[in-house]
Formats: sequence, C-alpha cells, structure tokens
Amino acid sequence: MRRTLWAPLALSVLVPLVFQAQAAHAVTGAASGGTGVAAVATPEAGSVRAGSTHGTTAAPAAKPRPKATPKSRTRPRTVVALTFDDGDRSHTMAAKLLERHGLRGTFYINSGDLGTKGKLTRAQAAAIAKAGHEIGGHTVNHERLTDLAPEEQTETICADRRALLGMGLTVRTFAYPYGAVDASARQAARDCGYNAARTIGGIAQGPCRDCVVAEPTRPERVYEIRTPGSVRESTTLADMKRYVLRAEQSGGGLLPLAFHKVCARGCGTFSVRTAVLDQFLGWLAKRERHGTAVRTLADVTGGRVRPVPEEPAAL
Ligand SMILES: [Zn+2]
Repeated sequence: MRRTLWAPLALSVLVPLVFQAQAAHAVTGAASGGTGVAAVATPEAGSVRAGSTHGTTAAPAAKPRPKATPKSRTRPRTVVALTFDDGDRSHTMAAKLLERHGLRGTFYINSGDLGTKGKLTRAQAAAIAKAGHEIGGHTVNHERLTDLAPEEQTETICADRRALLGMGLTVRTFAYPYGAVDASARQAARDCGYNAARTIGGIAQGPCRDCVVAEPTRPERVYEIRTPGSVRESTTLADMKRYVLRAEQSGGGLLPLAFHKVCARGCGTFSVRTAVLDQFLGWLAKRERHGTAVRTLADVTGGRVRPVPEEPAAL
C-alpha cells in the first residue's frame, strides 16, 4: 500500500535529483579531477552547484561543505607566504621539501653573497626559481638599512635588484635585512621597482586581545608587510600551527612567515629543524579545506615586473 502510494512521488523527486547530480558531477569533476566528492548525489552537492529549482526540497539550508567546492574556484581566505631569508645553502633542500608538499615559497637573496661560504651559488638560486619559487631581493650584502643614508639605501637595494634581474630572475618583492625599515628605506624599495616589501615582526606571536594576527589580504602598508617575528629554533610546530589557526579564526588574511636556516638538528637561533618544517608543511598543505592556501609573496601582492633605475641610481 505504502509503496504504491509513495512510488510516483518518490520518482518525481528522485529523477530530477539524479539529473542534477550528474550535472553537478560533470562540472566539479572537470575542475577537481573527479575526486569523487561530487559523485555522491547528496542534497549538498546538488544545492551547491545547481540548486535552483530543486534545492529547496532537497537541501536544508545547511552550510555548504567547503570540500565540495572545486579548488580552482575557491578564493582562499587565509594565505600563508613561506619566506626564507639570506640565500642560505640549506635553501636548496628547503625548496625541495616545499615541492614535495606541492608548495612554493619566496627566497630572499643577497646577490653579493651568492657563491660565498654557506650561501647558495648563482646556479642554485636559478634552480630554485626554475622550480617555481619566487626569488626576492635582500640588499647586496645584508646591510642594515636603518644605519644607512637614504642614497645608500637606494644604492644597495637597486644594485641588488639589478644583479638579480641580470641573472634572468623575476624579482618583484623585497625583504629588509633584520626587518630594519624606515620611511626612506620604504621609498627606496618602491623606487628600485619592487611592488612590495616584507619586514619582520608586527604580528603577535603569543596570545593577546585585539592584536594583529594577520595582514589584510591587501596589506595597507605594502612596503612594510609584517610577520610574527622570525621562526626560531625555539619555535615549535604547535606555535606555527597556532599562527595559521589564529589567522583562520580571525577571518583570514595574509600570514607571511619568515624562516632563515633549515637544518636537521638546528643550527643557531634563527633556524628551523628540517623535521619540524616538514611536519608543518604537511599539515599546512591540507588546510585548503579550511580556506587556507600557500602562495609566494609576489603572487599575493601582484603587479608586473617593473624596471630598476639605471646605475647610478636616480636621485
Ligand atoms: Zn636577512
């Protein structure tokens, strides 16, 4: 009795649902490589992709599950930029580690130190760029810019960028050595053709109220992009995860992290152990479902590759 009564009704609901689900699968399958998420004819899948006429009967106004959305169509709410300073020799290995997790980072290089003891060679820097990472400038010899006169600031920032561009590298962002920056250094970074520059600090490391936990996705001061200090040997995996979680929980934004040396057992205050970085990257690479992605700083801040002033620097 029941069956006969319900059959026509069930069919009338099910048939459109099946078509709808197939359409949804076609759309999401093409974009996501057919991971199977959308193959299940769940009300969520239908309502997210197609849900116009049937969505109301099938889907309660439930929160759409982020993982049902194709990756390519999702704009990340939180963007982590993994940056590595000083062109340390260990960065060849660090770059490969990122690649194993499908991630790309930004490597800030002192052009005058390339090929010296403990530093990357020109060929190694070029190989890192070729693998899809960003190479950025960091002054010729790691000068503390706030100790220099404005014209000297411009000289070292421009000469460094000129050298890196001369190697065929695409150089769009800059990092201030020691995070030391003032108004004239910001101006020099702009004048030397950089689209953005990263300092160190300014984002809270510990728990706090009403403090900055991430930059806006479009930073207000693009020539002074902040980080939660430098990652140090004493920084734990939990600390790094917390930086990301706090940014996510505060509505997202840009979270640049500043690393220096990477080595198996730690190698000084400003280093991270390879295993800790590896675990962090493995965790981070899976945050996409939480709206978090990893990008190079240049990819976040955008802009074309601008020319550098001819030597001697303008002004
Ligand atoms: Zn540095």
